[in-house]
Amino acid sequence: MNNMAALDPVAPQLSWSDTPFASLRSVRTDARARLLAGYIRSAIDLLSGPDGDKLTACTVPRCVRYFVKVHGRQEFCQPSGGNRARAARFYYPQRADSGR
Ligand SMILES: [Zn+2]
Repeated sequence: MNNMAALDPVAPQLSWSDTPFASLRSVRTDARARLLAGYIRSAIDLLSGPDGDKLTACTVPRCVRYFVKVHGRQEFCQPSGGNRARAARFYYPQRADSGR
């Protein structure tokens, strides 16, 4: 992960108009490497930031998403997740017991 983040070394840039604005200036021209490195930097920021311990796997069967919990009882990545989980338990009760 760290190696992929290092694919695009960046330098912080300060812009000053009405208020100061910080951005990152890339030194590479390869768009794919810049995009991949940007995604990885965002993932590192999320995992190491204040919300990193709130990152949770969605419990809806066959859902592969993760989300940041905003309250303690949240189990699904979207509000309709509860309906999908109930439908899965109704139609496939043996699968719902196994989680996915
Ligand atoms: Zn989900």
